[in-house]
Amino acid sequence: MGRMVDHLVPGVTTLTPHARYYALHGLIAAQADAEDLTVPAAQTLLRRAEVALAAVSLAHHPQALEWLPRAHGVDALARRLHSGTVTMSEAEVPGKDGYVGNSWGFWTPYAGSEVALGILGAGPMPVPGPRLETAALRAGLGGLLELAAEDTLNVDDLAPFGDRLCVCVGGEHPDGAWLANLMCEPGAPAEAGSRSATRRQTIQLLARVVATHPVRYFTRDIGHVLAFGDFLTSDPVTSGIDTAGAWRGVVLRNYSVGAWRRLWSWLVEQVEGLVPIEEVADRFAAELPDMTVDAFLSSLPATQSTTGAPLPAEHDLRWVGDPLPLAELRVLATNARRVDELTGRVRDAFLGQRGVELGPEWVQRRLDEARPMKLRDVARRLTYDLVARSQRIALAKARRRADAPTRRRHIVVTDPAAPTGRAAVPDKPGGARRRRATAGPARDRPGHLRRTALPRPTLVGDQ
Ligand SMILES: [Zn+2]
Repeated sequence: MGRMVDHLVPGVTTLTPHARYYALHGLIAAQADAEDLTVPAAQTLLRRAEVALAAVSLAHHPQALEWLPRAHGVDALARRLHSGTVTMSEAEVPGKDGYVGNSWGFWTPYAGSEVALGILGAGPMPVPGPRLETAALRAGLGGLLELAAEDTLNVDDLAPFGDRLCVCVGGEHPDGAWLANLMCEPGAPAEAGSRSATRRQTIQLLARVVATHPVRYFTRDIGHVLAFGDFLTSDPVTSGIDTAGAWRGVVLRNYSVGAWRRLWSWLVEQVEGLVPIEEVADRFAAELPDMTVDAFLSSLPATQSTTGAPLPAEHDLRWVGDPLPLAELRVLATNARRVDELTGRVRDAFLGQRGVELGPEWVQRRLDEARPMKLRDVARRLTYDLVARSQRIALAKARRRADAPTRRRHIVVTDPAAPTGRAAVPDKPGGARRRRATAGPARDRPGHLRRTALPRPTLVGDQ
């Protein structure tokens, strides 16, 4: 999904819900530039500011907000925050005892977006970019630098700062106005297909949905409107927004991604110690009704209204109360039916990268070919498919890590297609994967699964 989001809202990251950190990192860049800070000094300033922001945010609302996750680092700082005092020189140190592991604090997931938006320039440290407006940032967040310079923060004293500096109030302050302007670029030429036009369309789309629907949980409620019904095509505003179709496709596809994740988590939960794959496959099968795939497909709910609008079939299936493996298999099969129903941009976005395993087209083909078979046998086969994919991911990760010094990893790698059950054990940093038959009951055994050795089999292009 990450790639598609980058296409639809360039400069917006899916890795974090916090807009105020864009301003925070911009402020650090401005300050580091003004004071000609070295890299280590800029790192320290950034981390101290993040600690201050976390402390102020906790003081502002000790209970987590329903609509916004806590500020970065609050969990790691919890003990200090609840003691009432944060000693800055201890809390900001990156590592096991500090609030963060990385010497750049929580900057990394934002950096790409901040450069894309022109907040920062490219480089190994935050430097001011062409769209940085220091005055707006100082007006919005300036007090944070003073807090960051304190030796200790008393949580009780921080409450008055909450209305100005908390992660939840950015929208009401000059830095929020600056960021909104930056994202939407109301003065920019509305060239179709430009980054700012695409981003503006998405924000307009989301704003329109919020203005016309009751929204309690943003992601859930907005996603429902984007995916289903005829609002996107019938509403006078959204029907004119080009990117709306792509959003519909992305959100519909996400049901499939979510179904694979839940199914995989369930399969992994079945693994205690060393378990033969057949046993996991059998447990999956046992959760399913004794019927053919053909009958199973016929039992699925309608996915389209008489006027061709997508019906919320996947959403409703999760509320029926079926056991998880059955519910998610039905979501997958129902979702795959849309391959033949969607058209144009919606379909393009829904299909995503073509020809990949586990994608909607793959599911559709798999089930269609298996119509005469028993559903339970297909579930067993799917288990092997998922395990095989998980193992390929484990190997690819091990190879990617091969350059870096890594701890020795025991990964059970079995090849369900190989008659002798051979295993590949990636265990040599810097060395190529070695294929060999494993022996001995003390070691991981071919044809068996161990929970720690099971990376999630993601779809290509989805995170
Ligand atoms: Zn707050």
